Amino acid sequence: MKGNTRRSFIKKTVLGGLAFSTSSEIFSKTAPNVTKPIVISTWKWGIDANAEAWKVLQQDGKAIDAVEQGVRVSESDPNVTSVGYGGLPDREGRLTLDASIMDETGNCGSVAFLESIKNPISVARLVMDKTPHVMLAGAGAKKFALENGFKEENLVTPDAKTKWQEWIKENNYDPNYIDPHNHDTIGMIALDKQGNLSGACTTSGLRWKYHGRVGDSPIIGAGLYVDNAVGGAAATGKGEAVMKMLGSFLIVELMRQGKSPQEACELAIKRIAEKQKDYKEFQVGFIALNKQGKTGAYAIRRNFKYAVANKDGNSLKDSNHFT
Ligand code: ASP
Repeated sequence: MKGNTRRSFIKKTVLGGLAFSTSSEIFSKTAPNVTKPIVISTWKWGIDANAEAWKVLQQDGKAIDAVEQGVRVSESDPNVTSVGYGGLPDREGRLTLDASIMDETGNCGSVAFLESIKNPISVARLVMDKTPHVMLAGAGAKKFALENGFKEENLVTPDAKTKWQEWIKENNYDPNYIDPHNHDTIGMIALDKQGNLSGACTTSGLRWKYHGRVGDSPIIGAGLYVDNAVGGAAATGKGEAVMKMLGSFLIVELMRQGKSPQEACELAIKRIAEKQKDYKEFQVGFIALNKQGKTGAYAIRRNFKYAVANKDGNSLKDSNHFT
C-alpha cells in the first residue's frame, strides 16, 4: 500500500472504529489514567460520609455499598439538619424524607415522602434490590420499610421542634419562602477499584415545606443520575429548579458528549440561569464524577462546598459559582 493510501486507510479504520464504539470504549482509548477509587459528596458533612464510603472502597468493596454506607452517616447525624434524623420538619411539624440510589447496572430505587424511618437510603436500596419498582412513596414506602425490618422512630429532635415552633411564631406558616442558605442534601457519587460507578442522594428537603412536597432528591435524573459508561451526578439546592431541567441526567449526557465533569456542571447551572428568570433568588449546586475519576462541581451562588476522598486524602473544597 502506498504511503498516502495507507495513512488514509488507517485514519478511516480508526474513525470507523470510534464511530461504532460504546462511550466506555472511547474513554478507555483516550484516557488510560483513571483515578480510583474515589468518592465525591456535597457539603461539609460529605467529609464524614466520604470517610465511611472510603472504608468500603479501600477494601475492594462495591461503589453501591460505599454510597449507601456513606450517606447513612449524614442521615443518622442529628446535627445535619436537612438529612434524616434531626432534619427540620415541614410546615406542619412533620419530618418527611426523600432518597434515591443508583448502581452500575442502571438499576435504581427511591423513596419519597417517607416518615419515621431513620435511614431512607437503605429503604431505597431495598426498593431497588427487592421489588420490580423504582419508587415507593408515603405510607406505602413506610409499610414496605416496616415489613422489611426497619423500625418506626420519632426523628424530630427537640431542637428541630423548637426551631419549628419559633418559625411558626415569626413567619405565620409561609412555606412559599425558600431560603437560599438552607440547603443540605447529601449527594454522593463513587467509583470503585473495579471501575464501577454508583450514586446516592438523601434529604429531608426544604425546611417548612408544604406537607406532601417532594423535591428533586428521589427523582432519578433530577437529584441523582449514574451511567456506568460515562459518569454520575447529584444535585442540592432548590429541588423545584432541578426537577424542571433534570439536572443530573443533563450532566451525565453532557459528559457522554465529551464534556469534562466541571464543564458539564457549569453548563447545567447556565441552563438554569437561561430558563429560570428568578435564578438569583435561590441556590442549586451540582457535583459530578466521570469514569476516569475526574470530578466537577458548580453552583449558582457562593458557599457551595463539596468533599472529595481518594488515595491522597479526604478534603473539603469550595465550589466555583455563577453569580
Ligand atoms: N434539593 C433538596 C430539595 O429540594 C433540598 C436541599 O438540597 O437542601 O428537597
